[in-house]
Amino acid sequence: MSRLVMKFGGTSVADIDRIKNVARHVKREVDAGHEVAVIVSAMAGETNKLVEYCRQTSVLHDAREYDAIVAAGEQVTSGLLAIALQAIGVNARSWQGWQIPVLTSNQHGSARIEGIDGAEIVKRFKERREVAVVAGFQGLHKETGRITTLGRGGSDTSAVAVAAAIRADRCDIYTDVDGVYTTDPRVVPKARRLDRIAFEEMLEMASLGAKVMQVRSIELGMVHRVRIFVRSSFDKPEDIDPHGVPPGTLICDEEEILEQQTVTGIAFSKDEAQISIRRVQDKPGIAAAIFGPLAEANINVDMIVQNVSADGATTDLTFTVPAADFERAKDTLSVAKAQIGYARLDGATDVTKVSVIGVGMRSHAGVAAKAFRALADRGINIRAITTSEIKFSVLIDAAYTELAVRTLHSLYGLDKS
Ligand code: ASP
Ligand code: MG
Repeated sequence: MSRLVMKFGGTSVADIDRIKNVARHVKREVDAGHEVAVIVSAMAGETNKLVEYCRQTSVLHDAREYDAIVAAGEQVTSGLLAIALQAIGVNARSWQGWQIPVLTSNQHGSARIEGIDGAEIVKRFKERREVAVVAGFQGLHKETGRITTLGRGGSDTSAVAVAAAIRADRCDIYTDVDGVYTTDPRVVPKARRLDRIAFEEMLEMASLGAKVMQVRSIELGMVHRVRIFVRSSFDKPEDIDPHGVPPGTLICDEEEILEQQTVTGIAFSKDEAQISIRRVQDKPGIAAAIFGPLAEANINVDMIVQNVSADGATTDLTFTVPAADFERAKDTLSVAKAQIGYARLDGATDVTKVSVIGVGMRSHAGVAAKAFRALADRGINIRAITTSEIKFSVLIDAAYTELAVRTLHSLYGLDKS
């Protein structure tokens, strides 16, 4: 017997038929003797609709009321799934975030989970063999007692947090893809599904553009060592062999991955913008003068390249920001121009960041050098580079995105045969 968390996203509970399908997936696990907590999202499109209602009522609205409204989608699906389970003979009860409770910080709209008491859920597993159907996305601020939500895509984080709280053996994320791929299969048809990926790698993949799960949920899984299994909700429950290994990707500890590749995946993000500050004075305090105001404006700076000046007087500094913050970043820097002191500000939004990820890089030299050569051979110019222990990223012209991703994908032997 295992203790499982099963999480179903919006497309998996998009209508009543799909919810009944989810109920049969849950029954399959219950019949196999497992203790099950299910986390559900709102029906597909429902949260967007609620967000839009808030905006239409008043563009500037109270974040506490926003949370009261958008949390409603999950309330509906959790109740419906409990009914669907009861209808097929499975003992089940729904739980709202405030009922468990899922205690969070006070940042309405993007609250962070601070604690979950899983005792009651576990007690009911034991005493009544009762399935807990938990509304994802929702929390409760511990001091004000108000409903909070965890940010868009937050039910992934609810699932992993509940799994940690009840010490589940595994957290299954049922979604509309059947796992995590070496890169986006729409760009590289030869992309392969990974059997396993380490938390750290998945964290990079998710932060760098692979939108399988909310980034925060992977962080949480890593900290609490929750094994996460990404699998498809479109398989018919009847077709799944309860004793076999279903298709999917296990996100787990590095030690659980025996055949470690040097490179695990290639991620890319087109939502980048490049800013270059020309002829900025080369003296102490300049980086602070530039990045201080950007930080205050809540703009995330990513790749940073600074040259050592030849004349000891001025230098160029290039960095990237999210494309959505490009205009705001330029404005912020223009306002601070007098303090910083520079000749000119250049920018570009038609750039892509391509990242090569793999924990195996820690123990292999020359991984990045190989990529630079291959990209050069295809005439792709690199505008900026950053490296860390388990990844490196290059900033290139957006027009070369597909060529670059495909080139690197074959270069590191990731193409499926
Ligand atoms: N329903 C919420 C959203 O659409 C949370 C989730 O689905 O993860 O963002
Ligand atoms: Mg989602």
